[in-house]
Amino acid sequence: MFGVVPKPLWDRKSPANELNRIQLDTNCLCLIREKEIVLCDTGFGTKLSSKEQMHLEASSGNCLVENLEKVGIQPEAVTHVIFSHLHFDHAGGATCFDSHQNLQLTFPNAVHVMQEQEKTDALGNAPELEGNYFVPELKFLFEKARCQIINGGAEIIPGIQVEKTGGHTAGHQAIRIRGEDRGGIYLGDLCPTTSHLNIFWTMAYDAFQLDVRRKKRALLNEIARDELTLFFDHDAQFQAANILRKSSTSFEVGQVLPSRVE
Ligand SMILES: [Zn+2]
Repeated sequence: MFGVVPKPLWDRKSPANELNRIQLDTNCLCLIREKEIVLCDTGFGTKLSSKEQMHLEASSGNCLVENLEKVGIQPEAVTHVIFSHLHFDHAGGATCFDSHQNLQLTFPNAVHVMQEQEKTDALGNAPELEGNYFVPELKFLFEKARCQIINGGAEIIPGIQVEKTGGHTAGHQAIRIRGEDRGGIYLGDLCPTTSHLNIFWTMAYDAFQLDVRRKKRALLNEIARDELTLFFDHDAQFQAANILRKSSTSFEVGQVLPSRVE
């Protein structure tokens, strides 16, 4: 999760266990407008094999669907699913198995939104991207789901926009939310945890390191300057916070926001 950053540095912020692993979550943002229910990313879902679960020390269960149901949202009611990118830990939850182990859509009525570049890379069978995408389930998704393919930036519904960032993947996108007073940005894997608020703290999984540094710096500056909310997709402790500028390349957590806001 910290690429070339030496372990003695990151271990202080994010202590590893005896297997060199750190605690992570897959935080999905749910935005409720009058008629629309918009999900940003879907986690890894319930289809990991027991071997994959063991390798990742991943929890089983369907916490996204269960948590939505706890706030009265049935999967059928979700109108939009926006993917920051299509890696398995972001898109895996969009499909699930029925009782006969056949794939089905988790959110059957939703429009699924992604960048064209991300779709191309996910289905491109490029040898260098092997293992990054779960191709059969993505093929099923593109075949069965309503999809909205974006090239660059677009407003998905009033007040919710996507913006291609590249960096983590060539087709990675951020999601901008305009609030009544202030808004926020879901940065996906450009800044997965509060430990990544330094532009040089990037992941070994980032396909384009320098693009992550450049884009993260620009967006974190904007978030700090405009007092926007930053949503962290993999932080196990903080889901959302305001940030403060420490230097031209690093930022720190300001006010932490609760995981649910009205
Ligand atoms: Zn991720």
